[in-house]
Amino acid sequence: MKLNRRQFVVSSAVTAAISGLQPIAHSASGSGELDVIVIGAGLSGLEAALTLEENGLKTLTLEGRNRVGGRVFTMFDVPGHPEAGGNTIANAYGRCIAAAARHKIDIVNLAPRLFANRAGQELFLGGEHIPIKDWTTHARNPFDGEMKKLAPWSWADAMFKQHMPFRDLENWHDEKYAQHDISVHEFLRSHGADDTMIRLGFDTNIAYGTTAHDVSLLQQAFSDNWQNVNRGAVAAFSRTGAANVVPSGPAAAAAPPAGAPPGLLIGAFKGGNQNLPIAMAKALKGDLLLNKRVIAINVDDRSAEVICDDGTRYRAKAVVCSMPFSTLRHVAISPLPEPVKNKAIQTLGHIPITQFHLIAKKPFWEMDGLSPSMWTDGPLGLVLAQKFGKTDDEVTSLTVWCRGLNGLYVDRLGIEAGKQLVVSEFARLRPASKGLLSVAAVHSWTADPFAAGDWAIFQPGQVRELRAAIATPHERLFFCGEHTAIGSRGMEGALESAERVALEVLAVTA
Ligand SMILES: Cc1cc2nc3c(=O)[nH]c(=O)nc-3n(C[C@H](O)[C@H](O)[C@H](O)COP(=O)(O)OP(=O)(O)OC[C@H]3O[C@@H](n4cnc5c(N)ncnc54)[C@H](O)[C@@H]3O)c2cc1C
Repeated sequence: MKLNRRQFVVSSAVTAAISGLQPIAHSASGSGELDVIVIGAGLSGLEAALTLEENGLKTLTLEGRNRVGGRVFTMFDVPGHPEAGGNTIANAYGRCIAAAARHKIDIVNLAPRLFANRAGQELFLGGEHIPIKDWTTHARNPFDGEMKKLAPWSWADAMFKQHMPFRDLENWHDEKYAQHDISVHEFLRSHGADDTMIRLGFDTNIAYGTTAHDVSLLQQAFSDNWQNVNRGAVAAFSRTGAANVVPSGPAAAAAPPAGAPPGLLIGAFKGGNQNLPIAMAKALKGDLLLNKRVIAINVDDRSAEVICDDGTRYRAKAVVCSMPFSTLRHVAISPLPEPVKNKAIQTLGHIPITQFHLIAKKPFWEMDGLSPSMWTDGPLGLVLAQKFGKTDDEVTSLTVWCRGLNGLYVDRLGIEAGKQLVVSEFARLRPASKGLLSVAAVHSWTADPFAAGDWAIFQPGQVRELRAAIATPHERLFFCGEHTAIGSRGMEGALESAERVALEVLAVTA
């Protein structure tokens, strides 16, 4: 099916509103040689294509899925339209805030909702509910000394803050810190933590890797730096109210957080985060073809050819690849990139994440008097109440985040068994939820062939050996994507990488 640009724009808006899906393809092709083929219509690929077009290049974007957005994926058909992918932006997400303004997408500040009637999250360990006020002296608390006062989800952060061997975290990738490219496990052990502490305080509901053994301390420094940058931006905002931190426009117009640090932005794009990539796709002048799974790339020093699984072939002066390395490793690249680059493509880590989106017929949390949000060491992992209703404290859905080993476990059970497990585990931990919960949507990023995992993770030794090679071009093949960013992470990292790759491509195609 081919649609002209006008048809694409109209029908994509309607389709997106209904289901979050995009129509099959749009093609407004003119004649003439392509300058650049962009693989992937996630944030980084779209931003790269738009920037190259602004600089006069003719682009074609190929996307394997039947929608744009990649790891920004709104559940448009679940009440409150929760996010299955990229969730929130914060104060230092300058590129995301600017992109929203450019594409006329409002930003909603969720901070008031998250801080309104803040009941926090309930702690469940071994199936037992532990009121957080009892935690310090509880028999299951494995931590030492002052650390006993910390909730399990705060322990690892505190250990990193206290013991991180260097302070200028923005230089996490500098060679002078190569000796710290060790596992988080080794680092925590060297600061007195035992395996029980590490399993509870780092591995449970893990944010990077599958266990503390397969994530580098330098990866942790990178993410700590990004948190600090965002905290610094909040602090700067509260000191000055500076428009350069949260610019005037949609973000500044959002309601000020009540009870939250002044100036704090925990932002989402109005109506669903996927609205941003949808708007970016509409702004493209060149063709964007959906359902184009790339299976091979042939490159030389003057041009590049991309081959899709439907047999179609496209040639341009350059190719920008935004695919995560977890999927790029299934693509035949000829000639093979140099060995270190190839090793990065073949081995860079990704965190396993599977999400279940649940709807409650009645607010069972009002019956048992606990917060709907939970932090568990069982199959429910992390449960986050989504608040996208008319009032600040209306809970529109619950998201179960199964991460790391827990994500791999529920995936291996299969979707139906996974759904049953989640609902029955809820009933076990929270009897008031019995018969009231249904699973409205499930998404496994690990099983998703266009992601094969979620955000990129440097494993021990990978920063030292592979980091520098990740973004370097291979002949006329250029690389962007959050995994190639070094200053910012997530959605902002995706846009950071698009800026760099656009400059690289412009330098050779000018
Ligand atoms: C559950 C979850 C929560 C998150 N929370 C946050 C958050 O709160 N804040 C934040 O900043 N970030 C968050 N992120 C991360 C953020 O969403 C990503 O870092 C960012 O969207 C990545 O953009 P990208 O363009 O680099 O990659 P992608 O969005 O993955 O884009 C790559 C594109 O390439 C396509 N592709 C892959 N293989 C092929 C192929 N063979 N042929 C053709 N096309 C292909 C994909 O379909 C995709 O569209 C979250 C992600 C997830 C999944």
